[in-house]
Amino acid sequence: MKCRQLLVKGKAKSVYSTDEKDKLIIEFRDDITAFDGGKKDVLTNKGNYNAEVSAFFFKFLGQNGVKTHFFTMVDPHHMVVKKLDMIPLEVIVRNIAAGSIVRNYPFREGTPLDPPLIVIDYKDDARHDPMLNDEIIIALKLVTPAELKKIKKMALDVNRLLSALLAHQGITLVDFKIEFGRQGKTIYLGDEISMDSMRLWDKKTGESLDKDVYRFEKGDVMAIYHKVAQRITKPVKKP
Ligand code: C5P
Repeated sequence: MKCRQLLVKGKAKSVYSTDEKDKLIIEFRDDITAFDGGKKDVLTNKGNYNAEVSAFFFKFLGQNGVKTHFFTMVDPHHMVVKKLDMIPLEVIVRNIAAGSIVRNYPFREGTPLDPPLIVIDYKDDARHDPMLNDEIIIALKLVTPAELKKIKKMALDVNRLLSALLAHQGITLVDFKIEFGRQGKTIYLGDEISMDSMRLWDKKTGESLDKDVYRFEKGDVMAIYHKVAQRITKPVKKP
């Protein structure tokens, strides 16, 4: 399958039409940005690592009953996906307090959040992705109440499945952001799930294994992305 027309160019991914009207190709580029695009770089192979981890998670989630947009990879940074009408919500699940929730509210970093917190932001760069509540989401008609319930359930299912998977690999899933879209009346998990959209901490050392390494210059980002992608997708089997 080949890319036809460029439909959307985001900060780190591009979306293309294909010869099949229900399928798109997402290109995972090597661009990396943080702080609302205030910090930007191009890091060789970053797109491949994020695509590899996203594809691995989508396959695993699909096998465990979560409907995702994933079909297959064309090459290491082009993913064939189901065409969805994307819903402009950033659904964030937090297991441990870190990042903006610590900056904006009196949570101490590292505090476990049990049950996990679901925070939903409005995806709109010009407005800096403001946090929503259920009433605003419904008043804006972004989704129906039934869809909102479904999205929250899917987000918690993803959290449960990925937390357990990563725990086996010695990694704590601190938080992550996912996005959803519709085809007809069905809601699918779309976009990506990668080191750019998750906070991952090494269970033993507490070391960051995600975009915080880039945001806060904690080390060699690509060396860490390479290592964590290997660790997630090709775990060493214990005898
Ligand atoms: O910055 P904040 O703490 O709100 O981010 C929570 C989680 O959502 C982090 O894992 C972050 O990488 C992800 N996120 C994202 N895209 C955004 C905002 C947050 O992937 N626009």
